[in-house]
Amino acid sequence: MSKIVFEAPAGVFAEKVKSVRHYTDRLFKFRISRPSSFRFRSGEFVMIGLPNSEKPIFRAYSIASPSWDEELEFYSIKVEDGPLTQHLQKIELDDTVLMRRKSTGTLVNDALLPGKRLYLFSTGTGIAPFASLIRDPETYEKFETIFLCHTCRNVIDLEYGQELVRSVRLDPLVGDLASKNPKLAKNESS
Ligand SMILES: Cc1cc2nc3c(=O)[nH]c(=O)nc-3n(C[C@H](O)[C@H](O)[C@H](O)COP(=O)(O)OP(=O)(O)OC[C@H]3O[C@@H](n4cnc5c(N)ncnc54)[C@H](O)[C@@H]3O)c2cc1C
Repeated sequence: MSKIVFEAPAGVFAEKVKSVRHYTDRLFKFRISRPSSFRFRSGEFVMIGLPNSEKPIFRAYSIASPSWDEELEFYSIKVEDGPLTQHLQKIELDDTVLMRRKSTGTLVNDALLPGKRLYLFSTGTGIAPFASLIRDPETYEKFETIFLCHTCRNVIDLEYGQELVRSVRLDPLVGDLASKNPKLAKNESS
């Protein structure tokens, strides 16, 4: 079925979908191209929408990728009849996603004084800003041990976080630092 695509509103980035992965009928992640002029701090959020109407609906989304990444990753809920996610969950490779130009947020390294331990408590898609922070070398410079806690309704909902921790341990930039950090691996379910 062909999709009707409206022109992007002025002052909004129109980016291409680079990958989509569905975890459950309620959760998925997607990655989009990163505009060359777009700067953000790991842990910030941005407003995203779809070009499916003349006045697109925008919703806040934490950027799950770190500030150095060439693409932008998002981890999303699928809300039945949700004004944005009923459509967003259907995006495919090369579709367009709209993004407002300014990111913001307080879950950033700048807001924290260095310390021994950093505790990151999250539920559901709330892990997204922490997915960004644990891929940022600055987080490991500021803290000796990082505790990432992710709780979900169902065991299967933990998959994104488990996959994330595995990939962080293999990451050329932060892999060594994360591997010395055993608390990052504790992702238990009952
Ligand atoms: C600062 C900030 C950052 C956010 N980051 C993310 C993110 O990274 N990923 C993400 O999926 N959402 C995130 N959200 C929520 C997001 O903005 C939307 O609410 C969500 O995408 C659903 O949009 P919608 O238009 O389909 O439904 P909405 O009309 O926005 O929501 C309908 C109902 O669905 C429920 N709901 C909405 N979002 C969630 C969620 N994430 N988990 C569980 N229940 C929810 C609530 O009960 C809400 O009343 C964030 C919100 C804020 C304020």
